[in-house]
Amino acid sequence: MFIEPRVGNGNHATRRGWVEVICGSMFSGKTEELIRRLNRAKIAKQKIEIFKPRIDKRYHEEDVVSHNANSIRSTPIDFAQDMLLLGGSCDVVGVDEAQFFDEGLAEVCVKLANSGVRVIAAGLDMDYLGKPFGPMPALMAVAEYVTKVHAVCVHCGDIATYSFRSVPSEQQVLLGETDSYEARCRHCFVKGMKGRS
Ligand SMILES: [Zn+2]
Repeated sequence: MFIEPRVGNGNHATRRGWVEVICGSMFSGKTEELIRRLNRAKIAKQKIEIFKPRIDKRYHEEDVVSHNANSIRSTPIDFAQDMLLLGGSCDVVGVDEAQFFDEGLAEVCVKLANSGVRVIAAGLDMDYLGKPFGPMPALMAVAEYVTKVHAVCVHCGDIATYSFRSVPSEQQVLLGETDSYEARCRHCFVKGMKGRS
């Protein structure tokens, strides 16, 4: 489990921010981990705000909803840039489904961290082809802490890092994950992709 080396600003004269990334495949518990970290900050009366891209309309419009039905209210936004205005006065800013944001995400998170905000972003590190997803590689590069969480392969029970699309489609963004994807280990992912071509 990720234990924060520091969670507040203690007696520091100036606020100190940093960037945390929680990444992994589908069904790996990314959002649950994001919510766990945010809830504890909230209990400590820190000011938190959660953003997600407006594209993600799977569940309730206003909530970051994890698959175990734990949820925290969130603000859907169109551009990463919107976080600067809305999140600058927070102690902690959470970002869910970070992979769907534009390429400006890493720069925005750096700006927030530089101004003293703790930023925690959760997202898919790879798309259904096993390729780095959107702004995630850049975000992982500028983060102080990167946590890769794993799912369990539905075929062999090994550690799963891939999101295998079980229905044919060429779209990179396909929502409604439980029906259309399965978590697979490297071996079973490669086998599945070979069977497809
Ligand atoms: Zn497997």
